[in-house]
Amino acid sequence: MKIFKAMLGMTALAAASLISVSANAQTYPERTITMVVPFSAGGPTDTVARLVAESMSKDLGQQIIVENVGGAGGTLGAGRVAQSDPDGYTVLLHHIGMATSATLYRKLAYDTLNAFEYVGLVTEVPMTIVARKDLEPTDLKGLIDYVKANKDKVTVANAGIGAASHLCGMMFMSAIETPLVTVPYKGTGPAMTDLLGGQVDIMCDQSTNTTKQILGGTIKAYAVTSAARLPVLPDVPTAAESGLPEFQVGIWHGVYAPKGTPAEAVERLSKALQVALKDPNVVARFAELGTVPSAETDATPAALKAKLEGEIARWKPVIESAGQYAD
Ligand code: ASP
Repeated sequence: MKIFKAMLGMTALAAASLISVSANAQTYPERTITMVVPFSAGGPTDTVARLVAESMSKDLGQQIIVENVGGAGGTLGAGRVAQSDPDGYTVLLHHIGMATSATLYRKLAYDTLNAFEYVGLVTEVPMTIVARKDLEPTDLKGLIDYVKANKDKVTVANAGIGAASHLCGMMFMSAIETPLVTVPYKGTGPAMTDLLGGQVDIMCDQSTNTTKQILGGTIKAYAVTSAARLPVLPDVPTAAESGLPEFQVGIWHGVYAPKGTPAEAVERLSKALQVALKDPNVVARFAELGTVPSAETDATPAALKAKLEGEIARWKPVIESAGQYAD
C-alpha cells in the first residue's frame, strides 16, 4: 500500500512537472522581448530588424522592441547579448560581421561560436557603391580614376571595423589598389546623414539603406555588388559589368539568443521568424529595398549555425593574410 501511495505520488509529481513544462512551452513568451541591433537606429540592420520584429511580434502575441547598441563594428551589441540572461527575452539580429569580427578582433569579449543559440537566417542583402550627390564622376570607371587622383582627400564612411561597410570599403580599396581615408560611425544610418550633407564622399552599404536615396536622386550610385542587377535599381550596373569582375559581396543576417536559452523558446522564435519571412508586408518591403527573405529552410537554427561556421572559416584566411586587425 505504502509503495502504491509512493508510486501514485511520483506519478502525480511527474504529471505535474510535465504539465508545467508544456505550460511553459505554450505560454512563452509571456512578456516583451528585446531584439538588440548592434548598429545605430535608421541604418540597414535596424531597418531589417524592425520589419521582422514587428511581424514576429504578431505571431508571438508579445511585442519585440528593438534596442540599438552600436559601436566597435557590431561587437558591443553582440557582447551585450552574449552576457544577457538566457531566458528567451533577449535576442540579437546581426549580419556577416558576426563572422568577420571573430577573426578581426583578437580580444573579443565573447566566444562567437559558443556564446549563442541559433534562431535562423533572415535575408542576404547586396551592397551598393554610392557617393554624395555632387561627386563629379558619373560611372564606376570614372569614380575609380577620380579616387586614385584624389586619394588623400576622398573619404569613405563605414560603421566601424568588422561592419559590412568596412568590409566592402576594404574590398573596394584593395580591388583598385588605393588606400583611402575612412570615417567610422556607429552605424551607416548616421553615415548616410553625413553623405546626404556632403560631409563624407563615398560609402559601400546595403541596398536596404541606399535604395530610397538612390531612387530619390539624393545620392549617386555607381554599382551593386550582386551577380545581377537589382530589379528595384535596374539602371545601376553590377560592379562586374563596370570592370571589377571579382567584386561580389552579399550581407547575410541572422537572429541569435544567448547560450543556454531554453530550446522551446529558441524553437518558438524560429517558428515566428519563419512566419515573418512569409508575411506579405515583409516580402513587399524587402523587395522595395532590393532584397528577398531567406527560405523557410534557412530560417532555422541548423542553417544559421552552418552559415556562421562556414563564413568564419571563409573569412579567417582572408583577414589573416591581410594582417589587419581591429586591436
Ligand atoms: N550597414 C552597416 C554596416 O556597415 C550596419 C548598419 O548600420 O546597419 O555594417
